[in-house]
This record gives sequence, structure tokens and C-alpha cells, in this order.
Amino acid sequence: MSSTKEIYLDHAASTPTDPQVVEAMLPYFTEIYGNASGLHKQARASARAIDEARHKVADILGCSPKEIVFTACGSESDNIAIRGVAWAQRQAGKGHHLITTPVEHHAVDHTFNQLCDKFGFEQTVVPVDRYGVVNPADIAAAIRPETVLISVMYANNEVGSIQPIAEIGTLARERGIAFHTDAVQAAAYEPLNVDSLNVDLLAISGHKIYAPKGIGILYVRKNTPLLSPFTGGSHENNRRPGTENVPYIVGIARALELVQGHRSTENERQGALRDRLMSGILQTIPGSELTGHPTRRLANHASFVFAGCEADAILMRLDMAGIEAASGSACTTGMPEPSHVLTAMGIPHELALSALRLTVGRQTTEADIETVLNILPGVIEKVRQLNPAYEPAF
Ligand code: PLP
Repeated sequence: MSSTKEIYLDHAASTPTDPQVVEAMLPYFTEIYGNASGLHKQARASARAIDEARHKVADILGCSPKEIVFTACGSESDNIAIRGVAWAQRQAGKGHHLITTPVEHHAVDHTFNQLCDKFGFEQTVVPVDRYGVVNPADIAAAIRPETVLISVMYANNEVGSIQPIAEIGTLARERGIAFHTDAVQAAAYEPLNVDSLNVDLLAISGHKIYAPKGIGILYVRKNTPLLSPFTGGSHENNRRPGTENVPYIVGIARALELVQGHRSTENERQGALRDRLMSGILQTIPGSELTGHPTRRLANHASFVFAGCEADAILMRLDMAGIEAASGSACTTGMPEPSHVLTAMGIPHELALSALRLTVGRQTTEADIETVLNILPGVIEKVRQLNPAYEPAF
């Protein structure tokens, strides 16, 4: 790290743990450490802390505490939900057809793919528009008599677009089909009442909401058929065995309470920073394009493509200038692959390799945004100059 202040604009990847969350967690490492399944005072204190955390989360989601499952992360919540419902429904002879979108996180789409490739399920992947948004009518048209599960993310991690969850939930409910949403990115910025959203299963991750990494939440509506992929003790209503991670459970509940408590003021503040970033970049950098929906997007999320640039080159130069950002592509074999999200939105292969994601957070200031707006145009210009194949079209 350099001695100058780093400007961290990668809150969609992870957030710092809120000091108030750390404070709430601390006693549960050294003072109250009993296994919540025991019968002594230490155990009862741990069980009480879990119970309080479960009530807190349930109050925010507008559900019964019995419907809350604490998990190890957002990916695990998605896995339990999708695999659990698919297996239970097939075992009950209800069907083997699943519906999802092409812009889901890999925790969802790889789970769908495995169910289809290895376990004989079939899936319909309903296309999205150029903003990455799915049309509920297209979901309705994909439903078959043997459809048992629909999974559509609440908000996208790469482009920030928010999906029409409540509308999809209504049509799923009318047809008696279980509906799962990955709310990992939305949890700090959007309302989470599960009845207003019409969802049966909803996944949250701690480290995106200022709690630590390694803790998640899964909401499972009462009477939703679910055969847990895990076996072991009867923890978490038989859905997620394993001695409960008491400090982290206390932490995620406190974090959810804090983000949802400050949601409207933070959405306004962060939304203004995001708008300044978006307009500043689009106005000053020729050949820049916004990705994702221009208005129906997460309050902290700005994402772009820059013709003639390679994302890694942008990120490295920004990092050298003290700005920490992310792209949308994954480089696994030395050959950068464009993001599946951007290609599903119809962005051409080359352009999709130039994605930049800037996600602001609680500590981001107006001065940080002005610094980025001063530095980024020069970075893009330099990266383009170094690309021999680049010919400006503007
Ligand atoms: N779903 C979405 C939309 C995400 O952005 C992420 C993390 O980036 C996950 C799921 C996975 O969450 P976790 O890192 O807690 O497993």
C-alpha cells in the first residue's frame, strides 16, 4: 500500500466490516463461547445470541424467525436453495424443469448447470435486454407444467441493474412455483420484505453488507419443499448442519440492521456520488458507454465499457494511482474471457473485455470521486495509445 489514501471503489466485491459490527461480535469470541446445543449457562448464552440475531433478521425480512437459516456465505445460501428445492420437488414427482436468466452469479448458474448436466434436470435460460433486465412476460412464457423453480437475481453484481422481482414473484406464486432470488448485491440498498417481493427463497452475504466474510443468510418460506444438500446435526431447522458460528451470526444480524436502518440516507448520498461518477465519465471520456440500466440500478453502482481498452490494463494503472476498482471479465487461462453478463446483454466480445466497475460505499467522499474523474481520462487515453489495434471512431 502507498502512503497516500487509497480510494476503494470495489464495494460490490467486498466491504470493510463496520466497527459497530465488530463491537457486537467481540464478546462471542472470548466471553460467550459455548456450543449453543449444550445445556449449561455458556451454551444458553450462545443460543440466546443466535435467537436474538434470528429475530432481528426476521423482523427486517418480515418473516418468522423459523424461516431464517444462517449459512457460511452467499454462495452457500444459493446452493442450498436451488439444489434443495430441485431435489425435493423431483423426489415428490413434481417435475424437473428450472428457469433462470443468463446474468446470474456463478453460485446460481453453475448450480443450475450441474443439476442439468449431472442430475437430469432441464433449464430454460430466459434472455435479458440490453440493460441486463429480464421481462416477466418472458419468464411466464417459459413456464411449463413441470417447472419447479424460478431463480432471478435481485440486482446484478457486474452492471447493477435491478430486476422486477415482485412481478416475477407474483406470477410464480399464481402458478405454485418456488421462486428464489439472490439478493447478495441488493441487501444493502433495496427493500427486503419477502412478502412484498413475493419470494420463497432469498440469499444474503455478510461481506457485501459490512459484516465479515464467511457468513450468509438464507430465507426459506414456510412449506417450501427443500431437501438440504447437507446432512449432520439438526442445526438451522435441519437445513444447515454444523455448530453455529455465533460471533458471525451476531455480526451479520447487526450489519443488516445497520444497512437497512441507514438505507434511505445512504442511498441518497451514495446515489449522488454514483451519478457524479457516471455523468463525469460519460461526458469527459470519448468512447465510454454505461453498462446496465441508467436509472433502475443499485445506488452505489457505476459500470462502463471503453472501446479500445483492455480492462486489466485500466485496473493496473488505476491501482498504481491509488484507485481500487474491478472489471467484469475473468482471466482464467491467460486469455481474458468476456463476462457472461455483458455478452448476454449483447455487448460485443472485444468491447466486453474493456469493462470497468466502480462501486462506492459508506466511506466514499465527494473528493474521492473528483480524484477519480481527474485521473481516469488520462488512464484511458494511455491504455488506448498502447493498443496498436485501436483506431478511434470519434
Ligand atoms: N451472488 C452475487 C450476486 C454476488 O455478487 C456474490 C459475490 O460476489 C455471491 C452471490 C457470492 O457471495 P459469497 O462471496 O458470500 O459466497
